[in-house]
Amino acid sequence: MVRLILDTPSGGYPVLIGTDLGRELRTAISRLDPTGAAIVTDANVRPWAVKVAKTIKRAGLKTAILAVPAGERSKSLARLEDVLGFLERQQIDRGGVVIAVGGGTVGDLAGLAASIWQRGVRLVAVPTTLLAMVDSSVGGKTGVNGRRSKNAIGTFWQPSVVVSDLAMLETLPAPSYREAFAEVVKYAVAMDRGLFDLLERNAPRLVDRDLSLLERVVFRCVAAKALIVAKDERDRGPRAILNYGHTAGHALEAATGFRVSHGRAVAFGMRVAARMAASLDLCSKRLVESQDEMLESLGLPDRAPHADPDRVIAAIALDKKARRGKVSWVMPRRIGHAEIGHTVPGALVRRVVTRSLA
Ligand code: NAD
Repeated sequence: MVRLILDTPSGGYPVLIGTDLGRELRTAISRLDPTGAAIVTDANVRPWAVKVAKTIKRAGLKTAILAVPAGERSKSLARLEDVLGFLERQQIDRGGVVIAVGGGTVGDLAGLAASIWQRGVRLVAVPTTLLAMVDSSVGGKTGVNGRRSKNAIGTFWQPSVVVSDLAMLETLPAPSYREAFAEVVKYAVAMDRGLFDLLERNAPRLVDRDLSLLERVVFRCVAAKALIVAKDERDRGPRAILNYGHTAGHALEAATGFRVSHGRAVAFGMRVAARMAASLDLCSKRLVESQDEMLESLGLPDRAPHADPDRVIAAIALDKKARRGKVSWVMPRRIGHAEIGHTVPGALVRRVVTRSLA
């Protein structure tokens, strides 16, 4: 098992990464000395939540489980109300904890509920997808979707502890596992050359879910995110680097009505950003090739997604991070180092996006 402390202005917390972490979870929760505990999960992950409930029962803590329907649609105000009603029924007071057992969907929903229930109760994150382990469970962003806008309603609320038990990935469907590697490659290209080398040497073992390697990969991703979150907890500047590949990626998701999955969209977005960076002489052509090879070897091949370039380009202009009509791009300079705040001429955006969709 590996352990790191994520330090933020609003407080630090441990992130534990390893396999079969029941005992560590029990100890971590005992240390919080909660007056009560309530587990939020989804229908597919419920068996893992039951296991967590049993584990902490041995620490003398009674819990109940609420399972919301699986999938993004549970990130809604209606489900948030269900969770708050559950916390009320369980009489979770200000000394209690909410335990989120699930992927990013459950984590975002339960995190938001924890942040507003009784004006904020502690949150324990037990991520069960690779995406949640490397990304969403750390950093403190919570949220549900608005009627038309993703993650529009949310808070910053850091967990008290994150326990990433890699054994839980055993039941994770292959597409979800594979897609998470888009975010892993994002950290590697934008921030961590050592991680890139590790991935390059071990792609087949990672595709086969080698848990000892995964432990190292998850650790490096969390460490990279921790570094940024410590500097910019509220996403007002440097945290934008985590958006590498997300400008064109989000646009592709929006332009296709979310038919293209997030991982595939981010892979597309990184390909677009790197090609633009190479055209502007910000990075080498070799970087573009290395990134392409890396994505391919991790199961994210360069098949052009089916989408109308005009729609994707229009969606890029609406990017959340655009200020006064100027889209701000994260551009790779060399493997392991990207820069935020680049503007790109419209004609180049059009050319690269159109080619990447052909
Ligand atoms: P998810 O939580 O929807 O899970 C994907 C599917 O896998 C679901 O059907 C789920 O039931 C199932 N599942 C989860 N763990 C399983 C397991 N161990 N075994 C079997 N099935 C399992 O998807 P996700 O990719 O983890 O998260 C996506 C969400 O995360 C999005 O809503 C996104 O906005 C959010 N997100 C948040 C942040 C953040 O910083 N808060 C960062 C990135 C993404």
